[in-house]
Amino acid sequence: MNTSLRKLPKVQTLMDSANAAPLIDVFGREHVTEAVREKIERARTKLLADAPMPEAILSERLFWTDISETLDQSREQSLKRVINASGIVIHTNLGRAPLAPEAIAAMSEIASTYSTLEFELDTGKRGSRHSHAETLICELTGAKAALVVNNCAGAILTVLSALANHKEVIASRGELVEIGGSFRMPDVITQSGATLKEVGTTNKTHPADYADAITESTALLLKSHTSNYAVVGFSASPTRGQLAEIAKANSLPLIEDLGSGVLVDLTPYGLPNEPVVKDVIAAGVDIVTFSGDKLLGGPQAGIIAGRKDLIDQIKRHPMARAVRVDKLSLAALIATLELYRAPSDPIARIPVLRKISEPIDLVRARAEHLADHCSSIEDLQTTIVPSKARAGGGSLPLQDLPSLALSLTHPDMSPDQLAEHLRAACPPVIGRISKEKLLIDLRTVSDEEISDLSSVLTTAFSS
Ligand SMILES: *Cc1c(COP(=O)(O)O)cnc(C)c1O
Repeated sequence: MNTSLRKLPKVQTLMDSANAAPLIDVFGREHVTEAVREKIERARTKLLADAPMPEAILSERLFWTDISETLDQSREQSLKRVINASGIVIHTNLGRAPLAPEAIAAMSEIASTYSTLEFELDTGKRGSRHSHAETLICELTGAKAALVVNNCAGAILTVLSALANHKEVIASRGELVEIGGSFRMPDVITQSGATLKEVGTTNKTHPADYADAITESTALLLKSHTSNYAVVGFSASPTRGQLAEIAKANSLPLIEDLGSGVLVDLTPYGLPNEPVVKDVIAAGVDIVTFSGDKLLGGPQAGIIAGRKDLIDQIKRHPMARAVRVDKLSLAALIATLELYRAPSDPIARIPVLRKISEPIDLVRARAEHLADHCSSIEDLQTTIVPSKARAGGGSLPLQDLPSLALSLTHPDMSPDQLAEHLRAACPPVIGRISKEKLLIDLRTVSDEEISDLSSVLTTAFSS
């Protein structure tokens, strides 16, 4: 038997020591006992494998410092703020759209009080949560009716469940994509209880392909945005007008999943033609679905807008209840939509639109400011380099946004190690590795974040 095992301290003895008391006050006896027990257990396992006695067991001071750190860490939340220096504006893994101050204020007020969520002040009777955003959405999109659900995936599932259950949905093979996060169009159609009828080919689908596929079992025609995937080159698909005509001639609804959903024309900012919701509805699409937290720049939400008779049918379906929007998201969405109303300038007021459209000179100013700051950090070499930022979130997949980044190099760290080091900082900084260099892209970092980013870099590389 390994004799040093006998030298291991007893849990009870440690818990009775003066060092335990302050920790018990903060974390409670149960948690401290558990941490102490685990630490001794780990030392026992090591000793049994003939490893030397861990230093933290030999020194009581080290032992308690260690326990205190472990307990601190156990309290730390894993959901926390980060600085997005990836250059991807709508980064799904980093929480997509940061909200405008107006949206945050609205959320905060509704969160802290009772509200008219489902209450009519005029009659004193029960109201509908769908009513609050509906008028605004209709005003901004030209739709006749609308409802808001939890997210866009839920929106499509709800629309198809309500309108196509036990029937056929006609969709082009060129649009049956997976958009990430296990969201695959064919699976969503199946999940709604509908049967998918594929038409056309991967690269080309003609109007007649849709028309020829219509039978008595057809419920609707479905068009979808291919998100972060593009069919280019020898390709073709019918225009919305052509599809709308076919749908109308057969008394079938035409549904389009827009994914991102842009409410204003972004072409003046050098961005390509992402379909604007108003134009899509004007082209004859009966129902559109789009996200609240992509290019719209609001909270997570799924918006369903279009023909009133269809929207009424969708509102009544149990799926609409199952994926209904919560009051905080609804408050934030309404406040964000208000920013699209004249005379407000959405491009200036909504953070994602501002980041996407920001003139390069302002990005350069941040890059220069940060580079200047970093010049005083020994061992860290920084160069300002041109960079290609992205809208992200499946929007504008082929569009690079001109940007500038700080390229970081360190004599003792690989780009991966540098990236890991910055992810461990407080707040964590998420960069992007390109061509063997760690880039800190300044298009996605706001002016307000620059001072925090500067301190993080100083702290992270001061030896
Ligand atoms: C992003 C996207 C969705 C899903 O939207 P969520 O709001 O993330 O649920 C659906 N369809 C398309 C085309 C998308 O780009």
